[in-house]
Amino acid sequence: MGSDRGPAVDREPSADAVHTDPGHAVGRREEDDPRPTLAVWKFASCDGCQLTLLDCEDELLGLTEDVRIEHFLEMSGAEGPGEGRARPAGRGPYDLSLVEGSITTADDAERIQHVRRVSRRLVTIGACATAGGIQALRNFGDVDEFRAAVYARPEYISTLETSTPISAHVPVDFELRGCPIDRRQLLEVITAHLAGRKPQIPAHSVCFECKRRGNTCVTVAHGTPCLGPVTHAGCGAICPAYGRGCYGCFGPTDRPNLRSMLGQLRHDGMSETDIERVFRTFNAASPEYAPLADLAAEEQDTPSAGTESDPEGRA
Ligand code: SF4
Ligand code: SF4
Repeated sequence: MGSDRGPAVDREPSADAVHTDPGHAVGRREEDDPRPTLAVWKFASCDGCQLTLLDCEDELLGLTEDVRIEHFLEMSGAEGPGEGRARPAGRGPYDLSLVEGSITTADDAERIQHVRRVSRRLVTIGACATAGGIQALRNFGDVDEFRAAVYARPEYISTLETSTPISAHVPVDFELRGCPIDRRQLLEVITAHLAGRKPQIPAHSVCFECKRRGNTCVTVAHGTPCLGPVTHAGCGAICPAYGRGCYGCFGPTDRPNLRSMLGQLRHDGMSETDIERVFRTFNAASPEYAPLADLAAEEQDTPSAGTESDPEGRA
């Protein structure tokens, strides 16, 4: 369905921005190779978004004619084009860094500062990197309890109390949403960088994709709860196409009307517990979804408020 299927947030649309302070100094190495350099980094994640890049297959070969992949441990296990240079820290500098995963340890928090310093542009990929991911569920509980429940020797586990998006720690040039991300959108982001333009990834909701695909609306037809009106497009409305409501994998669209969505979900029979769970599944640390609990409590006090359904989820 082309490049208009994409959820992304451009919080700092500095398409040509180069960090010029000493901490962000970037210059070219490999003087005999004019191609821009790409680095791919992993933090707390399942690697699914990195695999999306490998899943590009045919396009990946073509891409390497225009980009030199300098650091991508998932693909190479060592930095550099076959030169035997093992640099897991990735010294850089790099023209474009793709960052997967959230910040969950003190080491992560330190390492992302390094990544920012050696990257001309930094793009986060996936729900973990843009909204804390599933691991951000810890933000709403007791980490010590989780640790004791999961690990036989919890004292060996060193972790932060929260899982936070990359943008909570360093400036981010572009955020590509999804769990996992969409390969066509990823190619668009990389291509846009090479062309020196802003990625063409519209910010509309899953409802647009649903209409374009010719889906019958599961909410209107069957009263099935669906997060599509407040979820960023990018998946091609897969779940509604199979008669299921959207689970919100691609995170919040711009300015989601959560008050209206809450009223609709209640109208469609969801309990307060299920509403909270469905919003916190993939994007628990997203700033747009984070106020949900407060909003739900407020709505409980004034149950008649905000029951109008807005198909694009806007106020
Ligand atoms: S966003 Fe989803 S697919 Fe990507 S790394 Fe996180 S859990 Fe894996
Ligand atoms: S509410 Fe759900 S099923 Fe209906 S149009 Fe929107 S995304 Fe599609």
